[in-house]
Formats: sequence, C-alpha cells, structure tokens
Amino acid sequence: MSSSIQMCDLKGQYLKIKKEIDASIQEVIDSTAFIKGKEVNLFQEELASYLGVKHVIGCANGTDALQIALMALGLKPGDEVITPDFTFIATVEVIALLGMIPVIVDVDADNFTIDPKKLENAITPKTRAIIPVHLFGQCANMEEIQSIAKKHNIFVIEDTAQATGANYKFKNGNIKKAGTIGDIGTTSFFPSKNLGCFGDGGALFTNDDALADEIKSISNHGMKIRYYHDKIGVNSRLDTIQAAILRVKLRYLNDFNTNRTIAASIYDRFLGDCPSVKVPGRTSWSDHIFHQYTLRLIKGGRKELINHLSDKGIPSMVYYPVPLHNQKAFEIYQSKATNKLFPNTDLLCESVFSIPMHTELTEDIQKYICDTIINFLD
Ligand SMILES: *Cc1c(COP(=O)(O)O)cnc(C)c1O
Repeated sequence: MSSSIQMCDLKGQYLKIKKEIDASIQEVIDSTAFIKGKEVNLFQEELASYLGVKHVIGCANGTDALQIALMALGLKPGDEVITPDFTFIATVEVIALLGMIPVIVDVDADNFTIDPKKLENAITPKTRAIIPVHLFGQCANMEEIQSIAKKHNIFVIEDTAQATGANYKFKNGNIKKAGTIGDIGTTSFFPSKNLGCFGDGGALFTNDDALADEIKSISNHGMKIRYYHDKIGVNSRLDTIQAAILRVKLRYLNDFNTNRTIAASIYDRFLGDCPSVKVPGRTSWSDHIFHQYTLRLIKGGRKELINHLSDKGIPSMVYYPVPLHNQKAFEIYQSKATNKLFPNTDLLCESVFSIPMHTELTEDIQKYICDTIINFLD
C-alpha cells in the first residue's frame, strides 16, 4: 500500500473523469482555436455563476492574477500593500516587482490566516491595499478585514488560490464564495490546487464592471481596441485547452471539495487524541476545503518525523519553512515593516507539516499514515 501514497493524486482523479477530459481536449485540438477559443468565455461564465460573482477573467497563472489586480486598481510605486507573513511567495513578489512596498503582517496561530488586529496596526497613510490569503482552504476573517479596509479606504484583493469554492459565512447569516467579498479575488489553476488544470492557469473575479474592463485590458497588452494600447499591460491569457479542462473539472469541484473535507475529518478522528500534534483549527466564519491538511508538531523533531514517514512510504511537505520576513530576496523591505515581530509565523514555520491530501484518499491509507505518525511520536 505504502508505495502508492501520494501527496496529491492527480492521476487517480484524472482516470475517474478521463472520458470527459479527453473529449474536451480533442474538441479544442479539432477547432485549433488555441487562444481565445469559445471554451475560455464559457468557462469564465460558468465559474462566475458558480461563485456568484459578476465577472471572471482568466489569465495565465495565479501570480499574474495578483499582479494584474494591483495594476487594475491603479496602485503606484511607493504605495504600501499589506500581506501575511505565512504564505507562498507570490503576493510579496508581485508587490515588489511593481515597485510597491510589501508590508508583512503576522498570522493567527490557529487558522494560519492574517491577524486582523495586527493588520490594523500596520496601516499607514501610504497603505493602499491588503491581500489576505485564504490559506490551505480556509478564508481569512474577511468581515473584520473589510471593515478595517473601509474605515481606512483601502482596497482588498483576496488571494483564493488555495480556497476556490470555499464558503464564507457572515455574522448575519449571508454566505459568499471566497474571492467575491473584496474588490478583486484572484486564483490559480496550478494542477494541485482545488480547481486545477493541466498546466498553468489563473483568474480574477470582481463585481465591479469598470474594474473588470480594466482587468481585461491590462491582461491583453493594455488594449481595449486591437492595436490601440491605452495602458502598459501584460500578456496573460488562459489557454483554450486549459479552459476546456477546467469546464469539466468545475462540474466536479463541489464533490472534490467534499472528498477533501471528509478526508480531513477522518484525519481528525485518528489524530485528534494524539498529544504530540495539533490538528488544523477551524474558524466560525469559513468552510475549510483542505487544499492542505496541515498539522502542528507540539514538541519539535519535525525532521526526524518527516524522514521516518518517508522511510515508510509516506510523503509529507513543509508549507512553509521560511517566513516571508526572513526571505533573502525581501531583506531590503525588513526595515520598512511597521510591525517587526512575527511570533506566530515563526512558530508555524518551525512546527507545521502537511500530510497527503487529495480527492482520492481512502480510510485505509489514512489510517496507515496516522498510525505511523502516532507510533513514532507517542
Ligand atoms: C499557488 C499560489 C499562488 C500562485 O499561483 P501560480 O498559478 O502558481 O502562479 C499564489 N498564491 C497562493 C496562496 C498560492 O497557493
């Protein structure tokens, strides 16, 4: 059994929907409309309707989506943009590439998303935007973030690369999909994401018509009319083949996310009583659709545990080993960080590890993984 365990089983998932996927790809090849084929618009419309948002605009990847979002909001070099310390590098990278100043804020140690209280302390007169990241499949506290943003007149870009399809529950009972609450939502269709394609892909979501126009134009060389370039843009499109694959996979997204949620509750059941690990915390305000199932090790010894798991044929990963505030490439921004203490991110980077999470897990495999962890630690 152990030889077959994978961190993310893309092949097993593909085999279940192979017929539909293969047909969708063949159709694009037959049409030869590889760029801007009809599937791109159809997918954008279908994803918009799934999310309950007015506009979805595809682009080449999730990092581009973040960059295009910052450009579409008209942000300028020198503007400060707030982002969490515990996340993938993409957010801070695009902020810096555009000449803006990334301001890094610590996260909550239980749900791993940006801490709204620390966020408010990081706001200065130069702050123009906040990029909360809905990490590992669970939304940041958007209700508090939105109210802080409104108070200070700051844009909110939701990075929903790891949480496509998660529901956000407002205190008044309203429910919205991740990425449809702030000014712009961005996502990635990297193959291992909850909604993944067979290569690179990404998208932006917004309810604002003017912003949607801006996003479309910027992602297509800054033009609205062909060969008339009003703005400096980029070339960032979602390929037709990827859109065709995504149309098929979108129809299964709820099932896929349910499979992940069930797998997570099975892990909880097996590991919940183990004193040496802490199972992922859930918030009152968001679904958790488990892009990753991330445990915290209470007493250290992570390297030894990971090696032991690997010997037993169990893959695991550390997302993320280095806080953004310690990344070498971003050293120059450290003196500009208003809040220089990041105790929670420091703790998480030293103690987290993620175990296999995907749509094809079985209880047998999960039991083997958990028994192996418990036997080693206890
Ligand atoms: C994957 C990811 C991205 C980047 O997406 P790409 O499509 O790989 O560019 C951005 N933010 C987060 C949180 C991600 O997980």
